[in-house]
Amino acid sequence: MSRDLKKFIHEIEKQVGLDEFPSKDKPTIMIIDDDKQVLESLSYVLSDFYNIILCQGGDEALNKIDDSIYAIILDIRMEKMDGFEVFKSIRQRFDDLPVIFYTGFQDIYDPLDVWNKFNPFGYVAKGSTFTVLKSTLDSAIAYREKFLENKRLFLELKELNQELEKKVQEKTRELERLVVVDELTGIYNRRYFKSRLEYLISISKRYLIPFCLTFIDLDDFKSVNDRFGHQIGDDVLKSIGSYLSSLSRETDTVARYGGEEFVFLLENTDKDSGLRFAHRIRDAVEGFEINTSKGMISLTVSIGIACSEEVQPLTLDSIIALADQRMYWAKHKGKNRVQG
Ligand SMILES: [Mg+2]
Repeated sequence: MSRDLKKFIHEIEKQVGLDEFPSKDKPTIMIIDDDKQVLESLSYVLSDFYNIILCQGGDEALNKIDDSIYAIILDIRMEKMDGFEVFKSIRQRFDDLPVIFYTGFQDIYDPLDVWNKFNPFGYVAKGSTFTVLKSTLDSAIAYREKFLENKRLFLELKELNQELEKKVQEKTRELERLVVVDELTGIYNRRYFKSRLEYLISISKRYLIPFCLTFIDLDDFKSVNDRFGHQIGDDVLKSIGSYLSSLSRETDTVARYGGEEFVFLLENTDKDSGLRFAHRIRDAVEGFEINTSKGMISLTVSIGIACSEEVQPLTLDSIIALADQRMYWAKHKGKNRVQG
């Protein structure tokens, strides 16, 4: 195709607006020059290879620059804002967008000076061969592509890291929960109960604040298992666990001690109040009906209660032993009762 014919077709395309549609296969570049003729001739020789955005001045260019642009050809000597100023503004917003200075005044703008001062991606003299300009543009575009690819990978990695961190946090929370929660009933387990008891003992010794420990054992629980099976037995334990939990005051700790045995830690509670609370628990459980797949089941509890004031020396083992012993007395005396 002759050069004239090509130019003619290009003009037609321009007139019908065909050149407005950027091709997906071609990278987009921007050319900034105050000389309309330079813009037109560059556009003419480069438009087969690139989508081109033409700007006849820095102001217009700075408004149009975005991430879709892979490289910029920038005239140095321009009216109003010169190329160096435009360059600085570009750098403030796009620190890795390759800029190629393009000037006819390399005797004034010494290439070495320009490199040292601005560190542009390239410096091409107007009047250089097409090959020089195109190869500089192509390496700028390759650089930009690499940069964008790295940025994308970095963001991907960051996202993956965040996801991973979130998963680790979730797992950690779950593990922390498992450490203190009884698997079957979902209330606190013996481990948590003991650590809380240790804490209350130390507080009680230092500030003479009383607390009560209550052992609650389901009466004749074995017969539930024997009659209805272990699945129903487990359901009963779950129901009793959450029922006891619902009866607790805000500062109480309810835990499953093991088997069919539950404990209450009553903070800042003396013996009289503790006893009243234990009787309320016994009453409440007696009136509580558990809905199971094999019908309603009712149970009673035997409760042993010990107060910090009664135990000398006050230790974890001594107060547990006393409350446990009293719970057995309650059983021995006929069950469904409170022994203090
Ligand atoms: Mg100029």
